[in-house]
Amino acid sequence: MTRKIDILDTTLRDGEQSPGSSMNTEEKIIVARQLIRLGVDAIEAGYPAASNGDFRSVEEIGGIAGDSCVVCAIAQATEADIDRAAEALKSARRPRIHTGIAVSPIHLRNRFGITEDECVARAAHAVSYAKGLVDDVAFFAEDAGRADQEFLLRVIQAAVDAGATVINVADTTGYSLPEEWGARIRSIADNVIGIENTKLSVHTHNDLGMATALALAGVRNGATQVECTINGLGERAGNAALEEIVMAIQLHGAELDAHTDIRTAELTRASRLVSRVTGVGVQANKAVVGANAFAHSSGIHQAAALKSRDIYEILDPAQVGAVGSEIILSLRSGHEALRHRLVELGYTFADDEFDDVYQRFQEIAEQKKEVYDEDLESMVQERSRDVAAVFTLDALQIQCGDPLVPTAVATIIDEGGVKHVVSATGTGPVDAAYKAIDRVLTVHGDLEEYVVKAITRGIDAIGEVVVRVKSADGKVYTGRGSDTDVIVSSAKAYVNAINRMITTQRSREGR
Ligand code: MN
Repeated sequence: MTRKIDILDTTLRDGEQSPGSSMNTEEKIIVARQLIRLGVDAIEAGYPAASNGDFRSVEEIGGIAGDSCVVCAIAQATEADIDRAAEALKSARRPRIHTGIAVSPIHLRNRFGITEDECVARAAHAVSYAKGLVDDVAFFAEDAGRADQEFLLRVIQAAVDAGATVINVADTTGYSLPEEWGARIRSIADNVIGIENTKLSVHTHNDLGMATALALAGVRNGATQVECTINGLGERAGNAALEEIVMAIQLHGAELDAHTDIRTAELTRASRLVSRVTGVGVQANKAVVGANAFAHSSGIHQAAALKSRDIYEILDPAQVGAVGSEIILSLRSGHEALRHRLVELGYTFADDEFDDVYQRFQEIAEQKKEVYDEDLESMVQERSRDVAAVFTLDALQIQCGDPLVPTAVATIIDEGGVKHVVSATGTGPVDAAYKAIDRVLTVHGDLEEYVVKAITRGIDAIGEVVVRVKSADGKVYTGRGSDTDVIVSSAKAYVNAINRMITTQRSREGR
């Protein structure tokens, strides 16, 4: 039997730190449910000391995860941060505090202004303090890729001696080359006394396009846990991509002496879900989950693929769940059919909630003959977005064409329940709609990016619009909206982005 490699997913913590991909608690819960279906060993759910929103997300994910996986909260090496993490993890059945400190000379000197001895003392104190609150304590060595190796061994030894159950070695800046990184991990595995009783973990970044290679170099050299994110989402160029690591381990398990417990058929759905929730698209040529990952266009390749797919394909699309669902619902589908399919997709509703869902489903089915899984997911996620609605688009009427002046009349309901009917003209229908909506909003946002795409097939497909809106303080908020009418989708997406801006600003003030 090969070694079991734990997969810690940090999409909800490191992934969420990537620009414009912030998620609210409801969205994080949707992602967490999919991570549980995927079978990850641990979910890093957030940084409770950073904001009330993060605290609540960790708390709620701890509640839903039960025994299915470890729920981890990150904390800097201070008692206040660690206390806050422990508090947020109270509802978790398998809580883990992930604390630590940066270990490279540049961090010690320029960020903290401390000596190596002080760094070791802080690391040891943080771990033993956390051990007083929970049993499972991970220690992270930040920027280990640029640390002095002798010193790195010393800090890690201190953390192990203080009772750490996981040692997470982080190439925070994505600086390393795979062989050098592997040698670092090997030297930790060989030299730290007691390391064999802990999980040795690697956390790698993609600044040089090598995050996956670094993670696998870690596995080859003794790591038994990998930290990664769906779609490689994360700070700057991102983290190591979960789907790449899992499939590489699956294909090369013998050479790596490794296996994971991930249900690979859930990978494509996880990728699409995270992309839809964050509004961060997946490049078409992305490994494993990109739209073209299994597409052949050259004639020679196509001809060969018809004879036998494996001539040019090392992975089977079915293995990663990249084959379209054959279940298509329609207006004739009853309550039970819809409920059954939603449960299979991972969504459960109370009876009174379900009546609403069914009603919305019928509206969609009336407009489209065939309702695909992607339509259902878009519908369910739209509901969760409504939870935080400050402003709601109630109605939108557009007049446009050639030679008409594009004109929009919008009805917006504010959180006090007051209806505002506003109108504006613009250079086009979307511009007119946004200008009308702007007359009601209490905050201003600049539109940075506007993307429209069809979620499913056919001319009657639901069109989804993703917008990025920049606030006065320079933060970027993503908004999404979907409808069979793309102008309505556009208006919903804009209102959604503004609602996120307002709720985020409020939760920051309430901190
Ligand atoms: Mn990171």
